[in-house]
Amino acid sequence: MADMDLVLGVDIGGTSTKFGYIDRSGRCLGASAIPTQADQTPEACFLRLHEAARALWATLPGAHRLAGIGVGAPNGNYYRGTIEDAPNLNWGMVDLRGALSGYWGGLPIAVTNDANAAALGELLFGSGRGLRDFIVITLGTGLGTGVVVNGELVYGHSGFAGELGHCIVEYGGRPCGCGLRGCLETYASATGLACTARELLAASSAPSALRESAEPSALAVFAAAQAGDPIAREAFRRTGTTLGRKLADAVALTSPEAIFLFGGLAKAGELILEPTRKALDENLFHVFRGTVQVLPSGVPEDHAALLGTAALIWKELKS
Ligand SMILES: [Zn+2]
Repeated sequence: MADMDLVLGVDIGGTSTKFGYIDRSGRCLGASAIPTQADQTPEACFLRLHEAARALWATLPGAHRLAGIGVGAPNGNYYRGTIEDAPNLNWGMVDLRGALSGYWGGLPIAVTNDANAAALGELLFGSGRGLRDFIVITLGTGLGTGVVVNGELVYGHSGFAGELGHCIVEYGGRPCGCGLRGCLETYASATGLACTARELLAASSAPSALRESAEPSALAVFAAAQAGDPIAREAFRRTGTTLGRKLADAVALTSPEAIFLFGGLAKAGELILEPTRKALDENLFHVFRGTVQVLPSGVPEDHAALLGTAALIWKELKS
């Protein structure tokens, strides 16, 4: 029976690999995680994933049929089913779809990057339901972008479309892990926020709770900003301003009706949303004024990343 169909959603990260079984309504029937152990071979990780996913399957209540596997991975390429030189994995080029087919032969297996998966999760299970044009920005250690145009995720010619995080906002600016300098993600991300706060602390002698730590983290900046610390608040203002300015460029390309912020930094709420909206409005070409909203992601927080990866398969099965 089709109602018993489940998709295995897998979210491969630098530290841990999460996985879970998701039904077509976005309900997670069981989820778990294994350490990725990126210092070992990818094959060793996939073997452990297969064993752990099978063990989890055996614990699911009732009878089910596995309909496919959706995987989100850094530098995941949808067309080739590969992970390509992901900086935090050190695996080089990995034929992910090929490797998983060895364990789950005959099933549809789809691969993309985590930001594209987040956009599909928004489209099927979040606030993107019913929208045809929107952008999801994932704000974590880095900045990812998933772009939906005319109801479809945009992969582009290379499969890597939507890399706003590596568009330059400051030529000759902060060095980025990609080799360029001044990329958006070196400013508008948890890492960028912490860096901005440290620069502000160094540039003044104003009192701040952040001076208690030699290297305040993004979480410490968030806590201080919530407590009204002026330097922490200024760090958020600058982070949102840089993000909003670049989002104005993105709006000019695809004219989305909404931009959803997803991930750790997005949980800061108005601290990041307010300066982002302001800078977006100030830099928007007039024909787009009033046509685009900046909103927090509407994907249920529990298992949000897994819902996105499972949506890769559910979207294909629906269309
Ligand atoms: Zn970069």
